[in-house]
Amino acid sequence: MEVKAYLVGGGAREVMRAFVNQISTDKLQHFVFDIDIAVEGDAIALAEALADEYGGALIRNDRFRTAKWIKETGYSIDIAMCRREEYPIPGKLPEVIGEAEIYEDLLRRDYSFNAIAISISKDDFGVLYDPTGGVGDIFNKTLRVLKPLSFFEDPTRMIRAIRYSVRLNYKIDEETSLLLLQGIEESYIDQVSPERVRYELECILNEDFWFGILWAMHTSNLLSALHPEWNQLPTVSGSDTEVLELGIRNQEELLEQDMVPPWLVRLSWSLVSVRIEALWDVLKRLGVHKRLAESMLEAREKFDEVAARMNHAGFSPSRIYRVCQEYARKTLLFIAFNSYLEKNTEPLRSNLMKHLRELSPSRTVLPGERLISMGLPAGPLVGKVQEELWWRKIDGELPDDNAAEKAARELIERYLSRPIV
Ligand code: ATP
Repeated sequence: MEVKAYLVGGGAREVMRAFVNQISTDKLQHFVFDIDIAVEGDAIALAEALADEYGGALIRNDRFRTAKWIKETGYSIDIAMCRREEYPIPGKLPEVIGEAEIYEDLLRRDYSFNAIAISISKDDFGVLYDPTGGVGDIFNKTLRVLKPLSFFEDPTRMIRAIRYSVRLNYKIDEETSLLLLQGIEESYIDQVSPERVRYELECILNEDFWFGILWAMHTSNLLSALHPEWNQLPTVSGSDTEVLELGIRNQEELLEQDMVPPWLVRLSWSLVSVRIEALWDVLKRLGVHKRLAESMLEAREKFDEVAARMNHAGFSPSRIYRVCQEYARKTLLFIAFNSYLEKNTEPLRSNLMKHLRELSPSRTVLPGERLISMGLPAGPLVGKVQEELWWRKIDGELPDDNAAEKAARELIERYLSRPIV
């Protein structure tokens, strides 16, 4: 289509990091998760043409004149129009005020190392565009904003600054540090909506060095700027996070099944030292969806109770099941992961995980119609008998259908011989 196109963002940054030997070239694919392309011209039309020719789906964003091109493999490429932007309200998303050339598009970016473009057009393929000295900063391992008002315009850049400085192990340039300090002291972050805070937290908590990033945010008072009650982290020990990570890896399937992404487990864990009376307010500020926030809060409220009942070895499956049934699955899930912070809680975790993985939700041992044909009246008794059959099944008392039928007959007899009150 004869438009000029450039590799920008993390892709360009990582290519240049490889160029100065900070990462190895053959490991680039481990450092670049999404590819950003900037084009001088109609980005959406280009994305549409690409999808027509090579397949895949498009998600268009007309406000920012960008499109996400998702291939069948799930891999995606963001294609954006080079643009000029303005921040009419600090903390809110910027407004696009027009098309631009690559230089201007780079100047609207957050840090110099993210303001690099590498041409992918035929006529100047591979040419580097670096108007702000980003490659020099990469070489010197320095994070630097492009203008004094950067953090004021978009305070999420304060969070991103700490995230990148920890991830890349870069120092924050002196002037940028002063601006960051000012931004924290003057609580610029208050202008940012809970939704945007949540997005930034999600990015942090999906990083390998998530705890290091939270720790750096804590020591620079950015955590307490987000909410004054988030003034502590539950541990200073890296080994505690390693244990949590191991737990998350071991339970990946369970998390998927309950639709709780690992970053939320890490968040709930990171908030264990927040006072319970303040937790709801903190979760609201962090933009956590209401349902999940309720589960996280309930996990904190019920922790001691569930631990007192379930932190014992040797319980029969039906006993575990009967106690755990009283609590919501997500609540138990957060309790299990938060418990990594408490010593001697292995039995608690093992019981909760057994319940979540194997014992619940209960499955039908014998269908209701079968029980009715055996003489049980239709109604609430059917559910009761089915529940008791499940208890016996998980305790291993019903190895086959015959045993199930026999047990059902006994139960029906017992229920029917009870006096009706
Ligand atoms: P990674 O994917 O490795 O975290 P990335 O740089 O690709 O890094 P994105 O969040 O995808 O991260 O952002 C892409 C690019 O968009 C950044 O490199 C930066 O140039 C620009 N950008 C992102 N957020 C901002 C922001 N808040 N202010 C200015 N520019 C931004």
